[in-house]
Amino acid sequence: MAAETLAADAVASRLARQEEDIRWLWTEVHRLRDEQLNAPDRCQAEGPCLTREVAQLRAENRELRHRLYRLRLCLAEELSHQARRESALRQEAGRAAAGAQPPPSQSQEKDIKKKKESGPDSEVKNPPNFVKERLKLFEILKKDHQLLLAIYEKKGNTSNVITVRVADGKTVEGEAWKTTPYQVAAEISQELAESTVIAKVNGELWDLDRPLEGDSTLELLMFEDKEAQAVYWHSSAHVLGEALELRYGGLLCCGPPTDCGFYYDMFLEDRAVSSTELPALETACKAIIKEQQPFERLEVSKEALLDLFKYNKFKCRILKEKINTPTTTVYRCGPLVDLCKGPHVRHTGKIKAIKIFKNSSTYWEGNPEMETLQRVYGISFPDDQMMTAWEKLQEEAKTQDHRRIGKEQELFFFHDLSPGSCFFLPRGAFVYNTLMDFIREEYHRRSFMEVLSPNMYSSKLWETSGHWQHYSDNMFTFDIDKDTFALKPMNCPGHW
Ligand SMILES: [Zn+2]
Repeated sequence: MAAETLAADAVASRLARQEEDIRWLWTEVHRLRDEQLNAPDRCQAEGPCLTREVAQLRAENRELRHRLYRLRLCLAEELSHQARRESALRQEAGRAAAGAQPPPSQSQEKDIKKKKESGPDSEVKNPPNFVKERLKLFEILKKDHQLLLAIYEKKGNTSNVITVRVADGKTVEGEAWKTTPYQVAAEISQELAESTVIAKVNGELWDLDRPLEGDSTLELLMFEDKEAQAVYWHSSAHVLGEALELRYGGLLCCGPPTDCGFYYDMFLEDRAVSSTELPALETACKAIIKEQQPFERLEVSKEALLDLFKYNKFKCRILKEKINTPTTTVYRCGPLVDLCKGPHVRHTGKIKAIKIFKNSSTYWEGNPEMETLQRVYGISFPDDQMMTAWEKLQEEAKTQDHRRIGKEQELFFFHDLSPGSCFFLPRGAFVYNTLMDFIREEYHRRSFMEVLSPNMYSSKLWETSGHWQHYSDNMFTFDIDKDTFALKPMNCPGHW
């Protein structure tokens, strides 16, 4: 272990020297660029050469960070082994001193087993092993990040004063890498800071607690703003993800906001989520909200992230297929560490009202050949009145549900034998034929001619039209001879 400590220290000090070199070279590049701007006929060889050097140093720097991370990991594992060994020895010594305890009786053993197996509480109190492991790795990465920040702070010799222009025209002074949008908002008014959902810095959505990096234009977005709503619902999806993971121990996939709320997809090996479990999930979400868990942002190398998410093939797929940069971000709230570009609300307590209202199943990326996933939907608001208004709207929508009205007026009904298609009763068939006669008359009056097109097409048709990428999740599809077919859900593009 002593050798690993020495190696970690050596890598850390080499990293520190490199960070200093990068800083110096970067300043030099800027100085040379400024000189070139002032003297356009000057030879331009030095600039690009130095930029290459900076790029090389950065690549090596990333590798060193990864090595340091691995070394710290070994150290942490070694320490936890040692702690386990010591605790076992202590327990043994304690038992020897107190005399041997009688083994638990059969009924006591049954009680213990029962306690472990039953109730949603036990699921919450016993998080899956990967959660503990992931948290440990996150803390190691965070320590590295803080170490580097401290090096920057110690070595920084340039002026750190920045100007922040707030959208209403007010200008305030701040400190680079320290002042946060939340602090600027709080300086204007505490109420404003508390009601702001998310910041926008130089046109980019920005966590309220993420330090500003230079002179900035700052907008403070409220819940009424569409972009803020998306951030709010996206943050709520993390809360749902945390509850899902703790309750089911499944593998989280994607948890995006929608036009009205959010959902999270989760892979479960051998079961499905039942709608009867939604109230318990909602209670778990409310407990997470009550804890006001802060959203912590961390930028990490792709290699370290593949290690962090090695238990989850879906997150690894996203990392390998969708992330094209050497580093990306993860966010932590409570025990959940999630691969995410962010940004989010400051903490889970910002979500005042939450409802988990629907579940369904889907496929990874909507592809029926991939894994089946469980999708759980929710909605959240910054106050209870908004939730009440939303619930009222849902109730009204129910009263206008055509499935209920159709039955009551004896027009049509639906049956599981052909879900989604209706069975017209005589009254309904009369309305249907009357409408058909009317539209046919209108066609002729306006000089249109009729054609009849198929009801079923190969998916290639909608892939070409672009419908497939958006609507395939909601279409009736089936495989015939290695090709996927679907019933047409609308007239276009099968009608021309
Ligand atoms: Zn997120």
